[in-house]
Amino acid sequence: MESLDIFVGGEWRRGGGNLMHSRFPADGSVNAELYAADLADLETAVERGEAAWRDPAWRNSLPHQRARILSRVAEIIESRVDTLAELQTRDNGKPLAETRGLVMSAAGTARYFAAACELLEGELPTPRIPEVMTLSHYEPLGVVAAITPWNSPIASEMQKVAPAIAAGNAVVLKPAEATPLMALELARIFEQAGLPAGLLSVLPGKGSIIGDALARHPKVRKISFTGGTSTGRHLAHVAAEKLISTSLELGGKSPTIVLEDADIEQAARGICYGIFSSGGQACIAGARLFVHSSVYQPLMTRLLELTRGLRIGHPLTPGTHIGPLISPQHRDKVMSYVQMARDEGGEVLCGGEIPADPQLAAGNWFQPTIIEGLENTAQVCQEEIFGPVLVAMAFDDEQQLIAEANDSVYGLAAGIWSRDTGRALRLAQALEAGTIWINTYKVFSISTPFGGFKESGLGREKGIQGLKAWMQQKSIYLATGNGVNHWCD
Ligand code: NAD
Repeated sequence: MESLDIFVGGEWRRGGGNLMHSRFPADGSVNAELYAADLADLETAVERGEAAWRDPAWRNSLPHQRARILSRVAEIIESRVDTLAELQTRDNGKPLAETRGLVMSAAGTARYFAAACELLEGELPTPRIPEVMTLSHYEPLGVVAAITPWNSPIASEMQKVAPAIAAGNAVVLKPAEATPLMALELARIFEQAGLPAGLLSVLPGKGSIIGDALARHPKVRKISFTGGTSTGRHLAHVAAEKLISTSLELGGKSPTIVLEDADIEQAARGICYGIFSSGGQACIAGARLFVHSSVYQPLMTRLLELTRGLRIGHPLTPGTHIGPLISPQHRDKVMSYVQMARDEGGEVLCGGEIPADPQLAAGNWFQPTIIEGLENTAQVCQEEIFGPVLVAMAFDDEQQLIAEANDSVYGLAAGIWSRDTGRALRLAQALEAGTIWINTYKVFSISTPFGGFKESGLGREKGIQGLKAWMQQKSIYLATGNGVNHWCD
């Protein structure tokens, strides 16, 4: 078994905290052991980060010099796709095809922010006063915190680290307890790409200890968090106390809507992918399905066929659709929601059980599950399950549909299936969600802003503003004449 060091202010060393393990969700075996970061490690990481971002060599680095590091990061990742994908599969159990996609997306993110950093321009606003020029430009924040969940480590971590570094900050990354491997590997890659020591630290450990202390540290100037809504709310309080900016990417309970003129095959495939890929462990999982009653039966028939045909299997076996869930505890939670649905009067149309296959007995598998017979007000329609569970409902009236689709504390994403683009766009305008997919689902572009409405989050990642979010703007007034301040005349 591998024993890993953590990365503290440019130094690989044994963490000062408790022993922790990365386990393979397919069989519970230990991938690696490591010691969590303790408060002394945190102090070192922040102090070295503070020194590193203030160092004139970095502070005055030109955009293309920072971009070069990120481009090298992308090249290293692309040269190691298979090993990185396997590492992430071992850490969180996602099938290889998905983790390959996440690795490639991380490389794309590094490239995108390399380019964005080179293209970022300040502004020269036309002043509304005579004999003055004004200019406004962007500066880094300083030491910033990135706190990430376990479901898509390399992608969600790169989505924070790449723009933060491109912007000139020092980053302290706190990965989820369950998935420390990829974050540490990312640190090695940045180190190999030539990132100066101290600008990135990776501090695995418990959220309530090391994550909380990181967020509260007086020298940390931003908290960028992806994870559950209750943790996000807590961190928003911490950020408010410190008066620092925060970006929160939180939970969801996204509706997918099939209108009566939809292409049924296209819709069924998109819905199946939208809820069951990653075993439903996706913030944007399309977990509530609303189907016009005139096409409910054909859509459900096809969706059930597709779902029953999904290959449940070992995540390292090519062609597997459904790998194990992250942990036995999480699988039990998902199972308890299915029981709750039954108790609320729902009918389980497929799945709803742990697979009987003895080869899967040691892992945390759960069958892809479709339930009908519930109202949108049911608890399983209102709470995020974060597993392979879809609740299907029929609708007749569009206004009623909009009200029900929006009847959620969440507002992360939504899907619409219709051949009438104008109608789909009108519906998109009425839905309360940060991302709407029309005739597709769960596809992403790094250049397109992402974030939630309502309790699904605050702020946006990705896109040019995803870079500016890691910076602060400074405006400078320059007198071009000599009669500006007349007060003393
Ligand atoms: P979580 O909130 O339990 O943990 C996320 C991270 O926060 C972990 O690193 C954890 O250690 C840390 N943390 C926990 N308590 C903390 C505290 N008090 N102070 C500081 N840090 C703390 O979430 P999770 O179970 O790891 O992830 C699943 C959740 O993430 C789901 O709700 C999912 O919807 C959400 N998510 C959202 C997005 C998005 O982009 N909107 C993406 C992926 C996951």
